[in-house]
Amino acid sequence: MDLNKLKPVSGVDVADKRVIVRADLNVPIKDGEVTDATRLTRLVPGLKDLSARGARVVVISHFGRPKEGPDPALSLKPVAAKLGEILGIPVAFVPECIGAEAKSAVDALKPGQIAVLENLRFHKGETKNDPEFANALAANGDLFVNDAFSAAHRAHASTEGITHCLPSYAGPLMLEEISALRTVLEHPQRPTAALVGGAKVSTKIPILKHLIAKVDKLIIGGGMANTFLLSHGVNIGNSLAEADLVETAREIMTEAKAKGCAVVLPEDAVIARAFRSGEAHATVPVLAVPGDSMILDVGVKSVAHMSDVLKACKTLLWNGPLGAFEVPPFGEGTFALAREAARLTKAGELVTVAGGGDTVAALNAAGVAGDFTYISTAGGAFLEWLEGRELPGVAALARN
Ligand code: AMP
Repeated sequence: MDLNKLKPVSGVDVADKRVIVRADLNVPIKDGEVTDATRLTRLVPGLKDLSARGARVVVISHFGRPKEGPDPALSLKPVAAKLGEILGIPVAFVPECIGAEAKSAVDALKPGQIAVLENLRFHKGETKNDPEFANALAANGDLFVNDAFSAAHRAHASTEGITHCLPSYAGPLMLEEISALRTVLEHPQRPTAALVGGAKVSTKIPILKHLIAKVDKLIIGGGMANTFLLSHGVNIGNSLAEADLVETAREIMTEAKAKGCAVVLPEDAVIARAFRSGEAHATVPVLAVPGDSMILDVGVKSVAHMSDVLKACKTLLWNGPLGAFEVPPFGEGTFALAREAARLTKAGELVTVAGGGDTVAALNAAGVAGDFTYISTAGGAFLEWLEGRELPGVAALARN
């Protein structure tokens, strides 16, 4: 895949054209209200630009995982209303994404107007990447813009199939996400650090293997660090660990050394006998974890050492929390290091890119997400990129 082949929609004449925009409107919703509109807010510049340039904008997206056909609980109607509110432009909602109803609603759009079509996954053809469904979607557009990096790891009709039917371009959010990842992984200011945390090693082996070839320092935290400590013969008591991956952890350490990547593990830990809010806890060296206790966070010495590592680096890629951050006080290690990364970013000393599921929640809880250089809106797609995999939705745009 040649990323230089991605064509931005910014230079294209869109006036009076029907522009299908694949967005990611898959936002959390409770009792019909959007509870986190970050993904919608990030779409605003791209949609406003198309509208201002006179496009007839047709937004398509998946929402949740409907099992069989239409499910009113997974309608995009409330999301479309919220998008209109955020845009400050009325957004029409069309209760179908293909066929006569969709066609007449799209035909009725005037230049500058925006419509959101109903959840793509109400049709099986979407996830099956059925060419007939892709054609039916494409029938409502003159050109296609993919602005959903976070859905680009799936080869679905709306991310891959449709690019065979219409001239296809990358939207500004798609380009921004890719650019942030390339800044960290392809042409970073060195030295570079990656912080990988989270519950399990098993879900992150390909990421660790890919990153040790790319970065100078690899900081490992969270439950997954326990397996690495175990591989060093450390007694980790009742901590979460994957004993069957001890050998893999050893291999990763050896490979990292051969590639000149220094691996940083926690040296002290916050421990408790049970994983419960308010549980009695203590900070001990990792070499002194009692048999009846579990490691739930990194300790202050680890944070100090990891902060020193960040101070000596110019670029940081962050994925995964350093501890069980959702349950107080086991988020303190993650929050303290996140504050330090934010401070260094604001001082212009560190470029910080973070993403992937829980990471953004952890940085939000630390109150510093806004201070990072870039926070990705993607979960799975971000992780697959860190594994060095080609994302079908991106490859489809870089094909011609
Ligand atoms: P992941 O989805 O793999 O990034 O993992 C995130 C989850 O890891 C969060 O829910 C954390 O609570 C959990 N986690 C992090 N550190 C620990 C730990 N030491 N013990 C148990 N769970 C942890």
